[in-house]
Amino acid sequence: MKLIDGKKIANQIKEEIAQEVKQIVESGGRAPHLAAVIVGHDGASETYVGHKEKACAQVGFKSTVLRFEETITEEEMLAQVNKLNNDPGVDGFILQLPLPKHISEQKVIEAIDPRKDVDGFHPINLGRMVIGLPAYISATPAGIMELIKRYEIETSGKDVVVVGRSNIVGKPMTILLGQKAYPGNATVTMAHSRTKNLKDLLLKADIVIAALGVAEFLTADMVKEGATVIDVGITRVKSDTTKSGWKLLGDVKFDEVAEKTDYITPVPGGVGPMTIVSLMQNTLKAAKGEIYSE
Ligand code: NDP
Repeated sequence: MKLIDGKKIANQIKEEIAQEVKQIVESGGRAPHLAAVIVGHDGASETYVGHKEKACAQVGFKSTVLRFEETITEEEMLAQVNKLNNDPGVDGFILQLPLPKHISEQKVIEAIDPRKDVDGFHPINLGRMVIGLPAYISATPAGIMELIKRYEIETSGKDVVVVGRSNIVGKPMTILLGQKAYPGNATVTMAHSRTKNLKDLLLKADIVIAALGVAEFLTADMVKEGATVIDVGITRVKSDTTKSGWKLLGDVKFDEVAEKTDYITPVPGGVGPMTIVSLMQNTLKAAKGEIYSE
């Protein structure tokens, strides 16, 4: 069993980005600038935005957080997005979801200029990804692809089961691993809550991407000997053994599944750190005008 160390790879990539930013600044350019929009006072959203700000500081990016009260209207929100779209000093920006119920997330996402959509949520970026054009790819799938690359895991001709079909993880993962490239060229099955014979499918899979959000769902009896298992799930549960009183569990029962695998990601320290670093990579691409250069 080989542990896929997302934390280590994420630190390496941060170092690479920091070097590039240093060169940009030394040659007279300005540091990439990521803005984040946060509405209300949701604890988890505050934590995520805090992590993103910290990562920006580590790689030398400028970061700005725009905070709004829950009472902001959809119209005001759209006006803010428009302002960011037209601000030449902002390379990319993200909307920390969820937004309050009275605001249509889809409408606001579609108002983002795809050139600044570093979360890769805009339908234009998703569509471009599907047909193999350069696109901002949402951070978690992009991070998983990077881990597969850096660990040189073979995907061509492999049977992959992605458990979960969300727009930000499951669906893009399915497309990316089926694309005619490396990583890709796999035969991919997208499983979800209505899938009938999930265990049978999983037992045939060379690679399993578990992105369902059910703590320790995947057990050893569901995994083929020698498989690669990527655990995306994060569930916070109470714990007597940690100082905070909480711990994070993945979608995989790590100890028993690890014994059967060739490669496996832990939780925490696997996919999670890669997600933030992918956002940094997308922001750097935005600053360099790499995706929409034509
Ligand atoms: P969603 O809740 O949007 O999607 C979950 C998917 O899993 C759905 O497609 C659902 O099926 C499917 N599913 C749920 N239960 C089962 C089951 N028992 N059997 C088979 N399929 C099932 O979740 P996300 O994609 O947003 O996130 C998934 C997990 O990944 C969460 O734990 C989340 O916290 C974590 N996450 C981690 C990130 C990281 O940085 N590490 C980033 C993003 C997410 P259906 O469509 O039929 O309802």
